[in-house]
Amino acid sequence: MGNICKKCDALCCKYFALEIDKPTTKNDFENIRWYISHQKTSVFIQNRKWYLNIKNRCKYLDGNNHCKIYETRPAICRRLDPKECEYHDQNAVKEIKTLKQLEKYLEEHPIKRKRKRI
Ligand code: SF4
Ligand code: SF4
Repeated sequence: MGNICKKCDALCCKYFALEIDKPTTKNDFENIRWYISHQKTSVFIQNRKWYLNIKNRCKYLDGNNHCKIYETRPAICRRLDPKECEYHDQNAVKEIKTLKQLEKYLEEHPIKRKRKRI
């Protein structure tokens, strides 16, 4: 474990996120509304990419926030660079957790209507 990680609360081990298509239609945003209606679920936008975020502690994280399978941890855990992780970069992420936040996002980013071809 790096020095930076010793100061952190194992943020990276308490969720997993999957990239999703950027929502563009009313139906896409209805799906987002459905995702975030579930407990411990949000979406976030980072570097223009959208992610479905599930806040769920890894089962291999012990009570002291240490990895119980450190030597054999999955590749995605090995690839994460503590110098570039969310511990430093929390402000770079726009998270939408509530319906109110979703409504605000839609006010600021109205859905563009597609032009009908004549
Ligand atoms: S990699 Fe980043 S988020 Fe994960 S424990 Fe280390 S400092 Fe915290
Ligand atoms: S396997 Fe270990 S490093 Fe990976 S998320 Fe779980 S506790 Fe964290």
